[in-house]
Amino acid sequence: MTSDTGVRRLVVDLRARANAWALPAAGAERLRAAAPPGWEIIFVDAQTSSDGDGGAAPAEEVRAVVGSAEVYFGYGMARSLFQAAPKLGWIHSASAGVGGLLFAEVRASDVIVTNSAGVHAIPMAEYMLGGILYLLKSLDAARRQQRAGIWDKSVFSGPESTVRELRECRVLVVGAGGIGSALATRLTALGSHCVGVRRHPGRGIPEGFERVVGPDDWHELLPESDVLVIAAPATSETKQLVTGELLDRLPPDAIFVNVARGSLVDEGALVDRLATGALRGAVLDVFEEEPLPSSSPLWGLPNVLMTPHVSAVSPRGFWERELSLFLDNWHGYVEGREMRNVVDKEAGY
Ligand code: NDP
Repeated sequence: MTSDTGVRRLVVDLRARANAWALPAAGAERLRAAAPPGWEIIFVDAQTSSDGDGGAAPAEEVRAVVGSAEVYFGYGMARSLFQAAPKLGWIHSASAGVGGLLFAEVRASDVIVTNSAGVHAIPMAEYMLGGILYLLKSLDAARRQQRAGIWDKSVFSGPESTVRELRECRVLVVGAGGIGSALATRLTALGSHCVGVRRHPGRGIPEGFERVVGPDDWHELLPESDVLVIAAPATSETKQLVTGELLDRLPPDAIFVNVARGSLVDEGALVDRLATGALRGAVLDVFEEEPLPSSSPLWGLPNVLMTPHVSAVSPRGFWERELSLFLDNWHGYVEGREMRNVVDKEAGY
């Protein structure tokens, strides 16, 4: 579809407030240099938010230009912006999650939606590896002792010790996609045994896993899992996927990791298990409510390592991969080739 002047337009709305997520000048140059013939790029100067799956109130500047856009490249897309963009053929989100973008009008439209699934896999796998090792080696106890000026080996070498090697660990990864597979690949290289859960187990075993099972078959694996990792998208099927009853099936020294979205977990039930020592600890990057309220008991739990939804941060690597994906898809879109990361609007990812 072309505009009245025959020019096709891409609107790039990536001036995120957070520096790591703001398109750098070199990235803008890369887009300009690789634009297919006949396309104009409009770079929005106004700041936007990279938080969540999109939906942040759009700036006036982007509202003013989106009407002529055939392609929109941003962090999700607000409903009001979509409604002001009648010529759209394709939305690419620089976020992996698209929960906030799949509102009724998008679902009912023919507009192609692509996301950044897999793009964040490397930094997130490294983040999780660090977090798992932190608890496995009792470095949480080490930090407490250091702050208090205590020299005490018993927490590490006494009868209550929970120190373990990665090669003793059986890891269950719910969501065997880009992120889950990158983690499993690294853990397997270090000797762990990884089982993945994917929605379509028949589509094969992604790299790093010994085997995969489907959404109905992972509960029985919990008693033999030393680490449970949540890396699946937030969809209608995954809401409150991890209940207290499932957490109770894990062994008492198990480690819980969530980098997906807070909506996948019953956070109250998780807090109970962590506070009573029913779990060894947790590594959490995402929460039911973000920012995490100051009243949350999670702040005070010594066996929780938490971060404010930043596990994917990797300014250089991100733009390299993100722009490669976008440019490949842009040319694919123009040439009518199959595009990568096309979101299944019904499945929600
Ligand atoms: P992918 O699309 O590559 O992987 C998603 C995986 O989840 C696939 O293996 C898929 O199965 C599986 N899955 C889907 N539904 C279910 C289900 N009901 N039960 C079990 N598994 C299921 O995405 P990514 O790995 O790149 O990202 C995953 C999620 O991580 C994102 O949707 C996002 O919410 C979150 N994320 C968080 C970030 C952060 O900053 N904390 C940053 C980036 C992503 P199948 O392969 O069979 O389709």
